Amino acid sequence: MKTLIREQAGKLFDWLVETRRDLHAHPELGLQEVRTSARVAEELGKLGLEVKTGIGTTGVVGLLRGTSPGGTIAIRADMDALPITEETGLPFASQNEGLMHACGHDGHVAMALGAARVLSNLRERIRGNVKFIMQPAEENYGGARDMVAEGALENPKVDAIIALHVDVHEPVGKLVIKSGPVGAAADVFMVSINGKGGHGSEPQACIDPIHIAAHAIIAIQTMIPRKLDAREPVVVSVCSIQGGTAFNVIPDSVHFGGTVRTLSRERRAEMPKRLEEIVRGTTSTFGATYDFTYIHGAPVTSNEPGMTELMRSVASELWGIESVIEMDKPHMGSEDYSYYLIRAPGAMGMLGARKTGAPHYPAHHPKFDFDEGCLPLGVELLAATAIKYLNGVL
Ligand SMILES: [Zn+2]
Ligand SMILES: [Zn+2]
Repeated sequence: MKTLIREQAGKLFDWLVETRRDLHAHPELGLQEVRTSARVAEELGKLGLEVKTGIGTTGVVGLLRGTSPGGTIAIRADMDALPITEETGLPFASQNEGLMHACGHDGHVAMALGAARVLSNLRERIRGNVKFIMQPAEENYGGARDMVAEGALENPKVDAIIALHVDVHEPVGKLVIKSGPVGAAADVFMVSINGKGGHGSEPQACIDPIHIAAHAIIAIQTMIPRKLDAREPVVVSVCSIQGGTAFNVIPDSVHFGGTVRTLSRERRAEMPKRLEEIVRGTTSTFGATYDFTYIHGAPVTSNEPGMTELMRSVASELWGIESVIEMDKPHMGSEDYSYYLIRAPGAMGMLGARKTGAPHYPAHHPKFDFDEGCLPLGVELLAATAIKYLNGVL
């Protein structure tokens, strides 16, 4: 079967490149992927899949039923682009001013559609179902959350899920993966410190919220090395602060906020309490009051060991053991794929996509590009992993 999958994926090369370039030239922001999702729905429909559109705003779900009964595995791709002005100079560069596929989601869609083509050709030999979850708004909103809420993982219930993300740090032909956390939970906190404004020359008659905010921010940063176990990563960054409008007026209030990144459920759970304690202590010391808001964003992206091992074993069967690289450490960025992983066992692998002989630009850079040679390999890996999961053999 693996030779058959490889042959079929290889034959799709020109189509994969054309599809990726078409998407690349027409990037759309999260929740506005109208053209993209129409193309996705059309391609899946052509293959005879059961297609549902408008899930989580612009999401598409395609269901491929094998000819004999079995489990259901999902293949997920994200469709959205970024608010970046492209500077690649490529002939298929963005035609949409100020928008760019700078994270490789154009490639993710092409690979998932390619896997749908390969797997629909092999339908007679599939035990169970493959569901294609094509989601909006990974970058700006957490489109996965709405896909899950609107039933993308039900009917039939998804037993396992896989995804790939292009990785321009590694060459084509590599899979970088690890079990456990690969991306952080990303939460938001906001603080208002309410003091008492007045003349800048008379702080004794005021409760100066700027001074109190300064103490609170320093204390928040001191909490990490002094209060939290250094063996468990956490990042807290205060990224915005507003207060005051004149050089000689103490304002009534100051507002600041930031992001909290954690890699474990336990650490994440304690962060709101820890942060609020500091704000409460600091404001009460100086006689001010506060408002504290903590918003939970995407959870930790944690690869399930069994599904990680499955992707690893399939990649090594396809491309040799040396093609599989153990991811050395998780990154503190977040991935809304995590919303699926808290409901179904799954894994996300990083697919080597570095261009050879070209300068290297990371994801979200206006000159970001990847080697399209990775596309048929991604198709192979997604299709073969789905088959091995459902049939037990490749
Ligand atoms: Zn991104
Ligand atoms: Zn991405």
